[in-house]
Amino acid sequence: MVTLVSENPKIWNIHVRLPQNPLKNLNAYVICTDAGNLVIDTGFNRDECREDLWGGIEELGLDLSRTALFVTHLHSDHCGLAGDFAQRGCPIYMGEEEHRYIMESDAADAWHRLEALFYSEGMPPGTLSNQADENQARKYAPAPYTVTTVKDHEVIRLGDLEITCLHTPGHTPGIMTLYLAREQVYFSSDHVLFDITPNIAIWHGIPHSLADYMDSLRAVRDLPIRMTLPAHRQVHEDVYTRIDEILHHHDERLEEIYRTVKERQDEPRLTEPGLTEPGLTEPRPTEPGPTEPRPTLTTPGTPSAPAVTPNAAPARAPGERGGSTAVTPDAAPAHALGEKDGAPAADCTPKCASVCAVACPWDGLSGIDAYRIASHITWSAGGRAWETFPPTQIWFAMSETLSHLYYLVDRGKLLRIEHDGAFSYRTP
Ligand SMILES: [Zn+2]
Repeated sequence: MVTLVSENPKIWNIHVRLPQNPLKNLNAYVICTDAGNLVIDTGFNRDECREDLWGGIEELGLDLSRTALFVTHLHSDHCGLAGDFAQRGCPIYMGEEEHRYIMESDAADAWHRLEALFYSEGMPPGTLSNQADENQARKYAPAPYTVTTVKDHEVIRLGDLEITCLHTPGHTPGIMTLYLAREQVYFSSDHVLFDITPNIAIWHGIPHSLADYMDSLRAVRDLPIRMTLPAHRQVHEDVYTRIDEILHHHDERLEEIYRTVKERQDEPRLTEPGLTEPGLTEPRPTEPGPTEPRPTLTTPGTPSAPAVTPNAAPARAPGERGGSTAVTPDAAPAHALGEKDGAPAADCTPKCASVCAVACPWDGLSGIDAYRIASHITWSAGGRAWETFPPTQIWFAMSETLSHLYYLVDRGKLLRIEHDGAFSYRTP
């Protein structure tokens, strides 16, 4: 299904379904000019998304030899079908920070390191293993593709249309949003959403994602914007009102987390909800990511003259730093703040603290862990109780809780206490 969202410049929205996903849909935008077309984001690498996206592109009759793709960030619902564009020889653009982050992350190991961190922050092993099977970001990651990177404030020209790329870190380390300054149109990707609040996670090597995010929101608030085009769902209000709401939401969440720690830091651990899951006895699920070098496709650079030419970003040889390089998809993040490699023994859970025969990381730890904090704060989950959250939602809630906890620790509002590789939080 395609919808015209702007007549001049001509911008279409292709409605891409995201089945079994609370985001519901991706808005893939297409900017059409006489000089060429730019598609912004794709949907997951799964049949329903492929059908919707390519159905829309066909409906619009796009000439693929004059069409490029812009991937705003590394999440699979945005880049899942980038491989389709690579196969068809379309240039693919991505922000250089996001590209660098993907290349520097060890994709094969990244999920495991994040699981180890979540375990050390109190997430029960059963919850960890459940989400690993269900996580759509892992299941529907893209096939290999090659990108040309663009810098912050670089301008992509489509005929006389100027598209400014803005590095707006927070939701991911290098997310880029696109701005048509003359037309005052802003493609906000997942940086500003209206029906839902963008998830602010933690990332390896980037412990300040929430502070980055709030700074990026304030930067966008300074731009003249007439029309905002978000990557999911609808727009209900002007972008300035929405940015203020989102900033306020994070202030409230910080306050609620601080209050939860203060009120519950001395509660006995074993009476808490969420700690009743069985220990993980089988090996942790394996990362479905690549184990072999992936083939690279070179971005077409010259003869057929791609219609979209970013300023000062010539296609470079595959593998060359900063240029066109095969992207290892969906390098999910992250450990931070003194995480140790490897989780504690897989069959050891917080619940076993008092009976564990071997040294248990939760023995003697005072305060409240991040998982318990997450289980006590307010989530907009349609009235569902924490215990009934789907595993993937728990995963996002945990990551979001951690980004707020680290923010409070950075500012000296909370203490993060380590005991044998397990972490908990207290007021100073
Ligand atoms: Zn995203």
